[in-house]
Amino acid sequence: MMAKKSVQKSLAKARKGNAAKLKPVSKQARTDTTVLHGAAKPLTKAQIEEMFRRFQAANPEPKTELAHNNPFTLLVAVVLSAQATDAGVNKATPPLFAAADTPAKMAALGETQVRDLIKTIGLFRTKAKNVVELSRRLVADHGGQVPRSREALEALPGVGRKTANVVLNVAFGEPTIAVDTHIFRVGNRTGLAPGKNPFEVEQKLEQVVPARYKLHAHHWLILHGRYTCLARKPLCDKCIIADLCQWPGKTVLQEPVRERAYE
Ligand code: SF4
Repeated sequence: MMAKKSVQKSLAKARKGNAAKLKPVSKQARTDTTVLHGAAKPLTKAQIEEMFRRFQAANPEPKTELAHNNPFTLLVAVVLSAQATDAGVNKATPPLFAAADTPAKMAALGETQVRDLIKTIGLFRTKAKNVVELSRRLVADHGGQVPRSREALEALPGVGRKTANVVLNVAFGEPTIAVDTHIFRVGNRTGLAPGKNPFEVEQKLEQVVPARYKLHAHHWLILHGRYTCLARKPLCDKCIIADLCQWPGKTVLQEPVRERAYE
């Protein structure tokens, strides 16, 4: 095993020389906003284990970045986040949740006021309608509570499989993995969970993610896609799983410096 100092030296040297030694990024990789289907070799069981071991070591308790204070406000925030950024949703929700943090209050607030409060978010008209209607249904059918059931959640207006998965995971601690654009890209790019659509990627993740990592897999992958494995210019030189990633477009040193760092 390498001494700690020696490992740090190797990494510092590698980082310094990285810019000069990077492989050129192909035109296809530069313009890749989603994935190169089938381009990555599937990861082995050992590589997947190592990938999640590193994610966990780097961030033992990952959290959602959507501001919320109870299962209901989480549900509303996730509904509002469709085709919008978490940061954009978080700017709009404080006054909304101050006015209505329960289904009964949201239903009483009504569509017009909700619409005014969320008008900075894309598709706000449809979302306001859905939020008020789902609040009414929660009051009428679920005693004003957010149900802990995929079926019941998906029956609510504006709630699809992805939203249900996030709510089940974050609010109720279920080991579900919601596949959004970031997870779809990371799953395909790295070779972790190749699939042609989000459902295929989700099914694959269900099969390959080790059980002990499933609870947090959603957040680790989303954060990795959001801050490191970016769509247009992935930050491969800062990536903690670069040596495991099977994407031909990755831009990393070919020497095993990174592997040694984790010994
Ligand atoms: S090396 Fe890391 S950042 Fe680069 S493509 Fe692979 S997973 Fe994404």
